[in-house]
Amino acid sequence: MGIPFVDLKSQYSLLADDINAAIKKVLDHGQYINGPEVVQLEQELAKYVGVDHVVGCSSGTDALLMALMACEVGPGDLVFTTPYTFVATAEVVTLLGAIPVFVDIDKRTFNIDPEKLDAAIKKALSEKKGQPKAVIPVDLFGLPADYESINMIAIENGMVVIEDAAQSFGAEYHGRKACGLGHVGATSFFPAKPLGCYGDGGAVFTDDDKVAEKLRSIRVHGMGADKYSNVRIGLNARLDTMQAAILLPKLAQFPKEIEVRQQVAKQYSSALEGHVEVPFMPEGVMSAWAQYSVLSEKRTEIRDALQQQEIPTAIYYPKPLHLQDAYLDLGYKAGDFPVSENISQRIFSLPMHPYLMAEQVDAIATIISTAVSGG
Ligand SMILES: *Cc1c(COP(=O)(O)O)cnc(C)c1O
Repeated sequence: MGIPFVDLKSQYSLLADDINAAIKKVLDHGQYINGPEVVQLEQELAKYVGVDHVVGCSSGTDALLMALMACEVGPGDLVFTTPYTFVATAEVVTLLGAIPVFVDIDKRTFNIDPEKLDAAIKKALSEKKGQPKAVIPVDLFGLPADYESINMIAIENGMVVIEDAAQSFGAEYHGRKACGLGHVGATSFFPAKPLGCYGDGGAVFTDDDKVAEKLRSIRVHGMGADKYSNVRIGLNARLDTMQAAILLPKLAQFPKEIEVRQQVAKQYSSALEGHVEVPFMPEGVMSAWAQYSVLSEKRTEIRDALQQQEIPTAIYYPKPLHLQDAYLDLGYKAGDFPVSENISQRIFSLPMHPYLMAEQVDAIATIISTAVSGG
């Protein structure tokens, strides 16, 4: 059948005129670094999310790194996050000399479990392991974490909340938009994310004026009043003008795409309910559906059956971070995060994008139900 996992070609054919014109405009004015499109995109992103400041940057990973740097996270600080995420979430913590402290996930949302977070902070304090400085909740697959509880726990402990919204741009949590749910939000414009550019890109979001000022400085080598006065150690982490220009027409189309993603997800869930475990939707929360992920004991059989019909699937994530070689020195072992480990054995993601047709969703669901019933 040949259904793409994420369909960038259909989106491009729809927006080609606008995207081509936007690229041409950049070639004509030639301001490739920090050009007017970057400023315009930042303004439109701020309006869309409802935050005071947006700082475009080179990737989702750098957005997280810049957020941690702007919040003064440094050597020996404890940063609490989930082991059930893309490696970038924890990698940036380690790069700064801080220590990732993993906390298991909720078995229904796959996001950090606030009760376990509270317990982990108390344990770290009693063991005098270091200063609990930040929490990085990950809005996995596009579903916002439980910010009401997480923000309260963070405030009680004098910690900042850095939202890893790499997968959740466009999602909503009780009337507020993802990227604006913690103290600082970080998102990614990697091509396959809900809002993607044609290369690497990202953005940082905050209402905090001081943090925003630091982010702008960190983005350009820790610049001060001008770029040859350096007031702190920074990065070269700018968003290309070309990528900002490509994102502008895509952002204009984005609200419609998010709506269609809801319909696709709904159709999947009603067709698959009873055959596999379908995604759980908490009250008052809307996912951006970066991934549509289901659970089944028959994962291998289902994926094989889909593969035979050229329908791609993916496993996010086959191995939680605490079991990765890169994190062996943290001293975790198998069994430490049973929910993450269990979910990683049963989860898989189906094709998900706003250009998926109802007939395609039906066809995928039929293959799955047949595979589950042993056909
Ligand atoms: C994609 C992703 C990132 C990193 O974004 P890049 O733009 O690829 O650097 C970080 N965290 C999560 C959860 C992601 O899915």
